[in-house]
Amino acid sequence: GDFPIETDTLVIGAGPGGYVAAIRASQLGQKVTIVEKGTLGGVCLNVGCIPSKALISAAHRYEHALHSEDMGIKADNVTVDFSKVQEWKSSVVNKLTGGVEGLLKGNKVEIVRGEAYFVDSNSVRVMDENSAQTYTFKNAIIASGSRPIEIPAFKYGGRVLDSTGALSLKEIPKKLVVIGGGYIGTELGTAYANFGTQVTILEGADEILSGFEKQMSSLVKRKLKKKGAEIHTNALAKSVEQTENSATVTFEVKGESKTVEADYVLVTVGRRPNTDELGLEQVGIEVTERGLIKIDKQCRTNVSNIYAIGDIVEGPPLAHKASYEAKIAAEAIAGHASEIDYLGIPAVVFTDPELASVGYTEKEAKEEGIDVTASKFPFGANGRALALNSADGFLKLITRKEDGLVIGAQIAGPSASDMIAELGLAIEAGMTAEDLAMTIHAHPTLGEITMEAAEVAIGSPIHIV
Ligand code: FAD
Repeated sequence: GDFPIETDTLVIGAGPGGYVAAIRASQLGQKVTIVEKGTLGGVCLNVGCIPSKALISAAHRYEHALHSEDMGIKADNVTVDFSKVQEWKSSVVNKLTGGVEGLLKGNKVEIVRGEAYFVDSNSVRVMDENSAQTYTFKNAIIASGSRPIEIPAFKYGGRVLDSTGALSLKEIPKKLVVIGGGYIGTELGTAYANFGTQVTILEGADEILSGFEKQMSSLVKRKLKKKGAEIHTNALAKSVEQTENSATVTFEVKGESKTVEADYVLVTVGRRPNTDELGLEQVGIEVTERGLIKIDKQCRTNVSNIYAIGDIVEGPPLAHKASYEAKIAAEAIAGHASEIDYLGIPAVVFTDPELASVGYTEKEAKEEGIDVTASKFPFGANGRALALNSADGFLKLITRKEDGLVIGAQIAGPSASDMIAELGLAIEAGMTAEDLAMTIHAHPTLGEITMEAAEVAIGSPIHIV
C-alpha cells in the first residue's frame, strides 16, 4: 500500500541548486527530503562544470608541455593516454558526488531515488523502476535543472554529440566541428584544440562568446586561431551527413554554402529547462514561453509554498547562481527576509585566456544612465603575469563617477576566474576604487592588477603612465 510519507521541505533535483537548498533548509531546522532521478550533484558535478574543467586542465598541461620553448623548456615524446585522462576526470567527479552524498547524510537529509511528479500543491509522487511512493510536504523547492537543446537537423547520436558526449569521448578526435560558440562550445573547443584536435567553430551571431565584450572575446578568438582552430561567425549550420566514423557538416555563410568534415560534431546551442515533465500544470505553476518558472524575489512561484531555483528560472544558467538562489529559498521558507540580488553574480569562461565579469559592464551602466569611469590595467604590466609567461589580457574596473563606488569589473587573462572573486566582494561590500587601491596586495601577484586598475580609477597609477 502507498501510505504517504510526510516531510517539511521536499527538494526536487540534487544539482548545485537542490543539494545546497536541502542542506540549508535542514540547517534551519526543517525535516528535508531530496528526490533525485539521476546522480547526486546534477549536471554540474557529473556532466558539466567539473568534468569540463578537469578536461580543460589536463589539456592545458599537455599544451604547456609541448609549447614552453620560449621559456627554455623543450620536451620530447610528450604523449596523451586519453583513457587515463578520462579515468582521472571520473575520479574527480566521483570524489565530489560522493562528497555530496556525505554532506546530505551528515545534515540528516533523506535521499530518495526516483522521479518526482506533482499531484497537488502539497504532494508529489516519486516513481522509480519498480515502485511509486507519495510524499506530502509543507514546502517544496524545485531544482530540476536543464538539458541540451536538440536541433532537428542535428539529432544527437552517432557522430553528433551533446556536451555530455563530448566530455566522455574515448579518443581525442582528429577533427571536431563545434556548432555554437557560447561558453560551453568554446571551452570544449579550446580543450580539444589544446589536445591537438583540428577544431572548427560555427557560430550564428557575429561573435563567439557574445555575452562578453568584443575586446575580451577577440583575445579568445586570436588564441584559438593560434592553436589552429577555424572560427566561422554568421554561420548557419544546415545539415549533417554521417558515415560510420565521420560526419560532414554543411553550413552557410553570407549565402555561400560550405562543408566541413570531422570525426565528431558537438552541438551546443543552448539548454532547455526541465519543467515539462513535473506535473506543474497539476498545481497551476506559471511558466514563461521558454518554460522557465516565474518566481518572486524570494524564489517563490505563484503557488506560495512552492519555490523554484537554478537553471529552471530566469537569469544566467550557472551553478553558483543555482546555489545562491538555493540559500535564499531555504531561508525564505524559514521565514527570513532574504531576497535575491543578481548584481554580484559572476560569469566566468575557462578559455584561453580566461574571461570573467561581475556587476555592470561599461555599456550596461551607460544604458541605465549611470555615469561611470572604466579603468583598465594590462596583464603585460604585471610582474607575476610576465613571470608566468602568460601576460595577454587586461582588467577593466567600472566605478561610479560621483563617488568611486565599484559597480562592475571585467577580466581577460590567466586566473581571471579566481581574480573576479575580489571584485564580487568589492561590489557586495560597497567598496570604492580607493578602498581597493589602498588594500595591500602581495607582490608579485596577479591581484596587484586589481589594485593598479583601482589606482588608475582614482587617477594615480604607479606602474603605467
Ligand atoms: P542541475 O545541475 O541540472 O540538476 C538538476 C537535477 O534534477 C538533475 O540531477 C536531474 O536528474 C534532477 N531532476 C530533474 N527532474 C527531476 C524529477 N522530476 N525528479 C527528480 N529529479 C529530477 N556552470 C557554472 O557555473 N560554471 C561552469 O564552469 C559550468 N560549466 C558547465 C559545463 C557544461 C558542459 C555544462 C553542460 C554546464 C555547465 N555549467 C556551468 C552550468 C551548470 O552545470 C548548471 O547551471 C547547474 O548544474 C544548474 O544547477 P541546477 O541545480 O539548477 O540543475
